[in-house]
Amino acid sequence: MTADKIDMHVHSDNSPDGEHSGVLLCEHAIMSGLRAIAITDHCECNEYIEKGYNKSIRQSNFEASKAQAVFEGRLLVLRGIELGQPDQDPEAARAVLSSCEFDFVLASLHNLVGMEDFYYLDYSDPKNDYRDVLDRYFDELLVIAGEYDFDSLAHLTYPIRYFGIDINDIDFKRYDAVTDKILSALAERGKALEINTSGIRKGLGYLVPHDYYVRRFKELGGKYITIGSDAHTCHDVGSDISAGIKTAADCGFAEIALYQNREPVLIPIE
Ligand SMILES: [Zn+2]
Ligand SMILES: [Zn+2]
Repeated sequence: MTADKIDMHVHSDNSPDGEHSGVLLCEHAIMSGLRAIAITDHCECNEYIEKGYNKSIRQSNFEASKAQAVFEGRLLVLRGIELGQPDQDPEAARAVLSSCEFDFVLASLHNLVGMEDFYYLDYSDPKNDYRDVLDRYFDELLVIAGEYDFDSLAHLTYPIRYFGIDINDIDFKRYDAVTDKILSALAERGKALEINTSGIRKGLGYLVPHDYYVRRFKELGGKYITIGSDAHTCHDVGSDISAGIKTAADCGFAEIALYQNREPVLIPIE
C-alpha cells in the first residue's frame, strides 16, 4: 500500500447525487491502480428521515461490506459515511452511527442551520455577503469539530467554491481566530483533516482546503491527513490524489491516514 493508491472519499448511487454502484466504483478503482477506497455516501442529518438517509445508508453499508469480501486481496474497501450537519440533528447523527459498523466517518457542513446548501445561495444579495457567510460557516463548523463524533473533517472552506470570486481575493487571515480553534480542536481530539481534490477537476484550480490550512493544521499539532477525490462517478475515483499528497508533504506531513474500524492506519508518503 502506498499513499497515492488510496481514495478516502467516494460516493455511490446510494447518495442522491451519486451515479454508479459501489461495485463499479471498486472495479474502476482497481483499473486505475488504487489499493483502497472508502465509500462515503451522504447522510444529511437535518433531513435524515424525510429524505430516506436512514435507509440509503444501511444499503450503502451493506453493499460496501459485500464489496469488501468480493474484492479482498485486490482492493481494500472501507465502509464509510459522509455525515452532513450532525449538529443540526444530533439524534440522527447518533442513530445512523450506531445503525451499522463503519470504518470511516467524514464530517461535513453543506448548509447553515435553517438555510439551503451553499450551492443555492444568491451571493449578490447583501444578506448573503460572502464574508458573513464564511463567518457563520466557520462558527458552526467549530461546534462540529469540537463536539461531534467523526474521524476526518471534510472539505474545510467548502462554501468558497460558490462565491464566484477568486480565492486570492479572499482575506483568510480575517478568520484566523476561529479557524485556528477548528484546527486545534481536530488536533487535540486526534481527528484528521481531509484534503479534498475535487476542486482540481472542477476547474477551481485548488485543493479544498488549500495549503494555507493544511500547513496551519500541522503547526497546531495536527497528525492525521486523509485524501479523497469526492468522486460521484466511477470515472473520477482516484482523481488528483497525487496533488493532495504533494500538498500534504509540502506542508510537513510524512504520512497520510486511512481508517479501518474507526482507527487511523498511517501510510508513509514516499
Ligand atoms: Zn461534502
Ligand atoms: Zn462528498
